[in-house]
Amino acid sequence: MNARILIIEDEPAIADNIVYALETEGFKCRWCATGQEGLAALDEPYDLAVLDVGLPDIGGFDLFKEIRKRHELPVLFLTARAGEIDRVVGLELGADDYVVKPFSPRELAARIKAILRRTGRPAGNAPGAGTGSAAAALPFVLDPERCAITYYGTRLELARYEYRLLGVLLEKPGRVLSREQLMEKAWDVPEASLDRTVDAHIKSLRAKLRQVKPEVEAIVTHRGLGYSLKEEW
Ligand code: CA
Repeated sequence: MNARILIIEDEPAIADNIVYALETEGFKCRWCATGQEGLAALDEPYDLAVLDVGLPDIGGFDLFKEIRKRHELPVLFLTARAGEIDRVVGLELGADDYVVKPFSPRELAARIKAILRRTGRPAGNAPGAGTGSAAAALPFVLDPERCAITYYGTRLELARYEYRLLGVLLEKPGRVLSREQLMEKAWDVPEASLDRTVDAHIKSLRAKLRQVKPEVEAIVTHRGLGYSLKEEW
């Protein structure tokens, strides 16, 4: 599957160069010239965003925070001044990498590939995926630092509670958890959340898992009891 890259950069000449270089490498690109357009574009799933720090409508750092509120995808910053790097790093925004303009499109493509390798590693060789020996056999790779989960080599675009729910289920494949238990483990404040909240998130999570592997039913419903992750993989 070709990685989808969102490019948010207001200078058409630079954007053209990037798109050309990345498409040559087999990436699928979409270019947005403003931050607002970029945010709207993120309704679609992307594997990575390239984000110019100097945008006309919203500062790149603010935009990054907006993106992070909703999405977990890796972000690579483009900065015009070397001094901005200090902010990128110093603010510990959690960006995945940055390049300073002017940069060679080939270098950018290489950095992007490195990030994608890092965040979408082949299944089963990362620490933290599940527990015990069963983890080695699972097609999931959990990256807690990035709140990201890769499934059969495809990075899942998960909302916050989908990520947490799946993380809880991954702890022990086959273990049945009631909706109350799932809510207790995955929600900060179980508060007014209802059973059907869990059901709704499980439903959307399943849809995302099926997009990757339609023939596999990763989450098992136990009628009247709750849910578990499929035990045998
Ligand atoms: Ca700019």
